[in-house]
Amino acid sequence: MFKSTRIKLTLWYMLISCLVSVLFSYVIYVGVNRELVRFERLQRVRLQEWGWLGPEPDLEIVNHARYRLVVVLGIITAGISALAGIAGYVLAGQTLAPLEDMVERERRFVADASHELRTPLTSLKSETEVALRDKKLDLTDARRLMASNLEEINRLQDLSDNLIKLSRLQGATDAVPLEQIEAAMVVGEAVKKVAGIAAAKEIKISSDIKNIKLEADKSGLVELLVILLDNAIKYSLAKSEVTVRAYKTNGQGVWEVRDRGVGIAQRDLGHVFERFYRGDKSRTKSEAHGYGLGLAIASEIVAKHGGTIGVKSQVGRGSTFTVRLPVKH
Ligand code: ADP
Repeated sequence: MFKSTRIKLTLWYMLISCLVSVLFSYVIYVGVNRELVRFERLQRVRLQEWGWLGPEPDLEIVNHARYRLVVVLGIITAGISALAGIAGYVLAGQTLAPLEDMVERERRFVADASHELRTPLTSLKSETEVALRDKKLDLTDARRLMASNLEEINRLQDLSDNLIKLSRLQGATDAVPLEQIEAAMVVGEAVKKVAGIAAAKEIKISSDIKNIKLEADKSGLVELLVILLDNAIKYSLAKSEVTVRAYKTNGQGVWEVRDRGVGIAQRDLGHVFERFYRGDKSRTKSEAHGYGLGLAIASEIVAKHGGTIGVKSQVGRGSTFTVRLPVKH
């Protein structure tokens, strides 16, 4: 699709520059021709004044000049069209490259989303079909089936919620509604939300929060911290520690979430913020549940606040996610 569009654009560039250069050539030709006609007439008048009685002089030189002018203008037009073709092809390629990239990313996103939706649906369907065929199915089996189905439904709901969240964040062009918030308040709310899963793994969350006031979307920031804390807990071994820090430096509010968990492999570090990216497939897919959307949502929230997010990690030693947000003085 993009190849034919590139060729079409190139042809349009060529056609337009060809038309412009034909127009210029025509204007030049008309101007020069007028001068040649004047020159011709002047020669005749002069000869009459001098009393020339011989045959009409041969002004072939004028016709020759006219002919050469047409040839030169033709060559210039062809040259300009060829150059416009080459430049047009390069320019069209450069213009279409980001679009092509975006379409490819959207296509991959839809394919990944469909795949993630299909997996729990297939499992729901096959489990239900098997149970329906089982004539000896008793109440205990039916309850177990419903509990398993409910688990899949919860996963589906989780996935669709995250997809909606992500598409809202990516589609929203309006500025986020900002309010005066304090770092301690946001961290407190986020920690409360993950307290249950931390307690289940006996993970201690400690915090060191300086008094930062900033204008931000409170629910967005809480969500961002919940994502980072949730991951820190999810990818840590039981009984370890997760630390949250918030401080101000160089006019920025800095938030750090550090864990001493499994860490992220070097090859995954550059991709963890991509949609549906899950690092070290064998480890994360089997042990920690997720769809690879959390950090994509987190980076959208940070971008909406005009900030940056980064990660440093060492396999087996843990990870530190750092968010920097502009702070108004
Ligand atoms: P999910 O956790 O649902 O897989 P995320 O987008 O939150 O999706 O994270 C993407 C990937 O980044 C994860 O699959 C995991 O490999 C890696 N990751 C994120 N946070 C951590 C962390 N604190 N420790 C180790 N790996 C992490």
